[in-house]
Amino acid sequence: MIVRMKDRREENALAVASAMASAGFDVSRLDLPFGLFLAGMGREDDAGGGIEALPGVDWVRRDAKGPVLAARERHPEGSRVLLGDLPVGGEDLALIAGPCSVEGRDQIRTAARFVASYGATALRGGAYKPRTSPYSFQGLGKEGLALLRDAGRATGLPVVTEIMEPADAQAMAPFVDCFQVGARSMQNFPLLRTVGQAGKPVVLKRGPSASLSEFLLAAEYVLLQGNPNVILCERGIKTFETATRNTLDLNAVPVLKAATHLPVLVDPSHGTGRQDAVIPMARAAVAAGADGLLVEVHPDPDHALSDGDQSLTLTQFRRLVEEIRPVAEAVGRRLSVPGASRFGAGSGPRIRRGSGWGV
Ligand code: PEP
Ligand code: MN
Repeated sequence: MIVRMKDRREENALAVASAMASAGFDVSRLDLPFGLFLAGMGREDDAGGGIEALPGVDWVRRDAKGPVLAARERHPEGSRVLLGDLPVGGEDLALIAGPCSVEGRDQIRTAARFVASYGATALRGGAYKPRTSPYSFQGLGKEGLALLRDAGRATGLPVVTEIMEPADAQAMAPFVDCFQVGARSMQNFPLLRTVGQAGKPVVLKRGPSASLSEFLLAAEYVLLQGNPNVILCERGIKTFETATRNTLDLNAVPVLKAATHLPVLVDPSHGTGRQDAVIPMARAAVAAGADGLLVEVHPDPDHALSDGDQSLTLTQFRRLVEEIRPVAEAVGRRLSVPGASRFGAGSGPRIRRGSGWGV
């Protein structure tokens, strides 16, 4: 059961919460930007009759089959999720770029400096890698997190990295600006609850075999912990096609934008698995209305320890930025201009510490 309050008046919320608790629900109070909600779990939804009539109750939803908190109608103008100082979901196009895995200090620093200087808004890099084969490189773990953090600090970029284990959240938190929940973990419900409680934005990737409705319900798990800062990421799904690693489902962009207020990114790297397809699909994603891109970039893709086949070189990343810029403008989006203010007159210049143009 989920109850929306008409306003944030404390005494009403307390009375409703205690009525729900008396009916046997475990109650959470969710103070979200688009309203105050009380979520009741652990009981059949037909319990707690009479709650509708309590003072301050706007509505009560029982037996919801689809997302309630993530639904577009909760916040029709769309949510903005802050990634560093960038509001993802507005006019600015987010560009999360960096290697698949953090492999060493030079590798991550070189990638970070380059993507920062060409307008990336966040640095990505995996330290805990979900690899299909247990014999493949599994990531540098803690050492990788520290290297990622250092590279982010050196370039002024917030960092995004994947969390696989709920138990890692506390130790990872000081190193991470935004948690990524990977495609394989999309329905790891304990992990979704954990990142919901971690107080940081979350990039939630679509499971390779997940429907859009399952994807939105996974986001709902995070919101139900009181964390509204979820950024969805379409990264390709499994189909019969073998020419590409996955089939990038660009239908997802307009369909998700209609169904939810959460920002939607596209990852053309995992979505195609092919370096030569990444830039064309990045252009297409921006044209389709994506709020940003997540792209793998490596200083030396031929020797990458993971996902080299789909990683752009540094110069290819520069080309990607140049090629998406006119597309972004055509659909009313802005792309950061390196060295210039992202926010326009009056909001002060956006200055990145230590970012240069060279590699
Ligand atoms: C990644 O971002 O490197 C990754 C493993 O992505 P996905 O979970 O989409 O496969
Ligand atoms: Mn990868």
